[in-house]
Amino acid sequence: MDFEDTAHEAAYRHAAKSWLARNAPGWSAPHGGEESEAQMLHRARGWQRAKAEAGYVGITWPREVGGQGGLAIEQVIFEQEEAAYRVFTIPFQVGMGMCLPTVYTHATPQIAARFVGPALRGEEIWCQLFSEPGAGSDLAGIRTRAVQSGDAWIVNGQKVWTSYANHSDFGLALLRTDVTVPKHKGMTMFYLDMRSQGLEVRPIRSMTGHADFNEVFFTDVRIPDAQRLGPVGGGWKVALTTLMHERLAIGRAPDAPSTDELIRLARSIPEGAGSALDDGAVQDAIARFYVNDAGLDFLRMRAQSAISNGRAPGPEASIGKLVMAKTRQDIGAFAMDLLECGGIEQSKAARLTDFQYHYMFSAGLRIAGGTDEVLRNIIAERVLGLPADRRIDRDVPFNALE
Ligand SMILES: Cc1cc2nc3c(=O)[nH]c(=O)nc-3n(C[C@H](O)[C@H](O)[C@H](O)COP(=O)(O)OP(=O)(O)OC[C@H]3O[C@@H](n4cnc5c(N)ncnc54)[C@H](O)[C@@H]3O)c2cc1C
Repeated sequence: MDFEDTAHEAAYRHAAKSWLARNAPGWSAPHGGEESEAQMLHRARGWQRAKAEAGYVGITWPREVGGQGGLAIEQVIFEQEEAAYRVFTIPFQVGMGMCLPTVYTHATPQIAARFVGPALRGEEIWCQLFSEPGAGSDLAGIRTRAVQSGDAWIVNGQKVWTSYANHSDFGLALLRTDVTVPKHKGMTMFYLDMRSQGLEVRPIRSMTGHADFNEVFFTDVRIPDAQRLGPVGGGWKVALTTLMHERLAIGRAPDAPSTDELIRLARSIPEGAGSALDDGAVQDAIARFYVNDAGLDFLRMRAQSAISNGRAPGPEASIGKLVMAKTRQDIGAFAMDLLECGGIEQSKAARLTDFQYHYMFSAGLRIAGGTDEVLRNIIAERVLGLPADRRIDRDVPFNALE
């Protein structure tokens, strides 16, 4: 294993670094601080457009669809360098990381050409309509029904936790089209206009104060058959394209506070004649976080090394996401403890915004893109080779379950 950049990678990193130094905005509060959601979205769009003009989005996407036709390692390098600037990219992550790769892989070239450009430039936002009140980890349990009627499908049901649906122009929806076959075989994937008649988006305000995920209700929503991605009943296979990209995208969390920032925070809190950093218990905790973060860095480098050599990263993605989400939450909780009861209350103190945000947001991070327990199952089965979970509903028709 070689962690050093190759000559090509070093040159790419140098170019990305100097472009970022000239162009990246210096935002002190990536998660908004006092800004409204509309203001945050506006600056996120500006940054996305600047990157698109410079060729730093869609880096690995094929040239035929409007991407850069570059290497996966180039994308990794750009993201590593961009992370130093704490920019706000969340509104585009679902579209760029998951929906659009699914669209250009499974749609006709004409349809792909229609959607890729506006998404790359931040003009159109996409959301992923997969989870439902009764289907999350067990995604194949979705119940939102699409019934064919001429050259269209009529959709009824409900999705939930749909990130950025309230700001989205288009959505990728996994729908139940046949209840008489086993659950994995009766689903079909579609894309749809989020302003379709009969579609209602209700934002859910989370404890971070942001309302960035939603319930989405379908009442007789009409989706033209031309907006189907893949064959009728082939939705699970199409969803796997999306989910494979999701695990990789979500393992990064590039804008989380580092242990260096925790050290700065401890140093800024007066204790006795010195600061909280002089306390042995504080030093102990920070050392533990540092060791965890170093382990995560090595896992990332291992995945990076695989990508650099043209291989897909292995189960590192599941291990990395499991450890990263819990570490982020523990670091946030520790920062709140350092600030005693005032931790959460001092929400106006700019220097704390990131710790407070991550303390509250990382609870969701341990659920999104695979819960802790589901990731442990994956690691148990695919890394340790332990016996698989018993799945008794695999061959039973969907309408015979319950
Ligand atoms: C911040 C955030 C953003 C999200 N964004 C989106 C989005 O944009 N689009 C979208 O479609 N969805 C989104 N989701 C939904 C997310 O994919 C689901 O919440 C997730 O898959 C878990 O599903 P669930 O909530 O139904 O919980 P469940 O699957 O019902 O799980 C409940 C509990 O049971 C445990 N459990 C379930 N199955 C097993 C098992 N086999 N073995 C052991 N334990 C198990 C889980 O670990 C969990 O503790 C988002 C979620 C969050 C938190």
